[in-house]
Formats: sequence, C-alpha cells, structure tokens
Amino acid sequence: MNVTSPLMPDLGEFTQMLKQIWESRWITNNGQFHQQLEKALCAYLKVPYISLFTNGTLPLLTALQALRVSGEVITTPYSFVATTHSIWWNGLKPVFVDIDPANCGMDPDKIEAAITPRTTALMPVHCYGKPCDIVRIQQIADKYGLKVIYDAAHCFGVEVDGRSILEYGDISTLSFHATKVYNTVEGGAMVMHDAATKQRIDYLKNFGFESETEVIAPGINSKLDEVRAIYGLLNLRQVDAAIEARHQVAVRYREALRTVKGIRFFDDMPGVRHNYSYFPIFVNAEEYGMTRDELFYLLRDNGIMSRRYFYPLISTFSTYRGLPSATTENLPNATRIANEVICLPIHHELTNDDVDRVLEVIVR
Ligand SMILES: *Cc1c(COP(=O)(O)O)cnc(C)c1O
Repeated sequence: MNVTSPLMPDLGEFTQMLKQIWESRWITNNGQFHQQLEKALCAYLKVPYISLFTNGTLPLLTALQALRVSGEVITTPYSFVATTHSIWWNGLKPVFVDIDPANCGMDPDKIEAAITPRTTALMPVHCYGKPCDIVRIQQIADKYGLKVIYDAAHCFGVEVDGRSILEYGDISTLSFHATKVYNTVEGGAMVMHDAATKQRIDYLKNFGFESETEVIAPGINSKLDEVRAIYGLLNLRQVDAAIEARHQVAVRYREALRTVKGIRFFDDMPGVRHNYSYFPIFVNAEEYGMTRDELFYLLRDNGIMSRRYFYPLISTFSTYRGLPSATTENLPNATRIANEVICLPIHHELTNDDVDRVLEVIVR
C-alpha cells in the first residue's frame, strides 16, 4: 500500500481535450487552456489573482526576487527542503526558527528573537495544510516592516472562516506536484493580491519579457504548458470528491487512534476547511512502547508505505547545518517532532479495508 496515489483525469476525456491542442498547434506560452486554468483556479481557490508555474519550487524563488528580498529570511526547518533552497538560490541567508507543536508551523513567540537589522522577510510554511498563526505572524511583519511569503504547497483548497488561506501574507505559493492533493503532474502557482504584481510575476516567469523586445528584469522560465493545463482543468472537476474521500480516511484513522496511548494526531480546527493532504501521527516512544522508526519499519514489513515528513530537518543537511540558527538547542520542538512523525497513507483511492490494515499494525 502506497502513502499516496496521484489524482488523475479520465483518460478518455484527457485524450479528447488533447485533440484540441493538437489541432490548435499552440502547445505552450500562455495558451487558451493555461488561461482557462488560471480563471478556474481563481474561482475554486477564491482568490482574485494567480500565476501558474511549472512546479512549486520556482514560485518560491521568484517570490523572493519579485519582492526584492535581501539579507536574511526567517524560515522553518520543518518543511520540504525546497523552502530553504529557494532562499539559498537567491543568495540570501536562511535563519531557522522553531515550530509550534500545535500546528507544526513557525512559532510566533520565537520570531522576534531571530530578527536582526538584515532581516527583510519571513517564509513560514502552512505545514500539512494546517494554517500557521497568520494573525500574529502578520503583526510581527508589520511591526518590523518585513515581507511575508507563505509556502502554501500543502494548502490547496484550505479556508479559514470561509476565506482562502492564500489571502494571507504578501505572496503564497502552491505546488501541483503528483504527490499533492491537486496535481498537474508537475506544476505550481503563485497567489498575489493585485493586478500589478500579477503582471510583474507573469513577466518574471517568462524570462522577464514585457514585450517582444523589452526585458524588464532577470526573469526565469517557469511556464506551464497546455498539456498539463488540460490535465489540471480535468483534475479540478474531481478534486472535491478526492478531498472528501481523504476526509473519510482521516475520520476512520482518528476514531481508532484516539484511545492509543503514545500516539498523537491532529483534529480539525474550528472554522477551517481542511484538505487532508497528510495524516501525520506523532509517536511518543516511551508511552507507545515502540520508537517511531520501529513503527515505520514494522509498517513497511507489512507492505504499508508511510513517510517520515519532515525528517531529517532541513537544518541538518550539509548546506545548512553550519548556520548559527541550525542547532538543536535553537530548534527543540522541530527536532523532537521530526523524530516522532509518521505520515500514514492517505489518498482518494484508499478503502476502509486498507485503512483497517494500517490500523491493525498500529493499534496493538
Ligand atoms: C512539494 C513541496 C514543495 C515543492 O514543490 P514542487 O512542486 O515539488 O517543486 C515546496 N514546499 C513544500 C512544503 C512542499 O511540500
């Protein structure tokens, strides 16, 4: 049993739409389906502006460029490595801040101590699609004049009190990679809040071209092609059903795990529309009687693939471990949680029997 399974369009419908691309001979560069997908995603995600990208890493890189971020960027070590890599690729210095175990997001109580005169931006992650403390993070950003770029790679469709989580911060980025709740095979997007920024981002993701002869900045190539745009349009039709199927998996896991000593998991937060992109459990070895790794390998021996997201911490990788903020003393919660976490299989094709097979291994 795999940890995830990609959401894929009906092959017949996909083939039908491919024919339109073949007939038009327009296969990339802001084609009709690219434009349709941007419109459809704005409507689905309840945001006024979106720019499609070829993956979820390049919008992070481009956001730092677009906002002219310099010096130091405060971020979290508890994420996929692309978050910190995007800071590094911009020639900036990542500064790690510990996480709050309640949501695995950046701990607002620890941010101010990490701010120096060189700090210009915060790059928090809504980990597992669980909203960070968006209000307090914005208060700190306002107080110190910092930009906020949210890595919202896990947040497709997540809403707080009926508003998209993507409304918060200066820019949010999404990943549409095959392993995410919604995918375009590879793909991603950036969400911004005004037409001028959208225009500038569209130039930047197309080498900086403003017109045939004018280049306004050192842009990059991060365009999404027409083939993946139709794949994305078709997947959008079934993503709600996929999220509901994931929800049912989460409900079944929670019911069975609630009484298991030493296993912690997240419940839904009031007022939040979750997307059930991951189902992390946290193993307290002493109480549970088995370490996280022992359980991880036991699951594997039973043919069940789980993932230790996010272990190891980004701050332990060779590029980053020499940074002053990368020490375990600075990151006690992240260090502990990285050693406790297992993300259980969760996807739209998982049956009750599958879920019960996973639970049989864990509930002893
Ligand atoms: C998946 C992911 C990314 C990178 O997205 P890609 O589409 O794979 O480039 C960035 N940040 C986080 C938190 C992710 O989970």
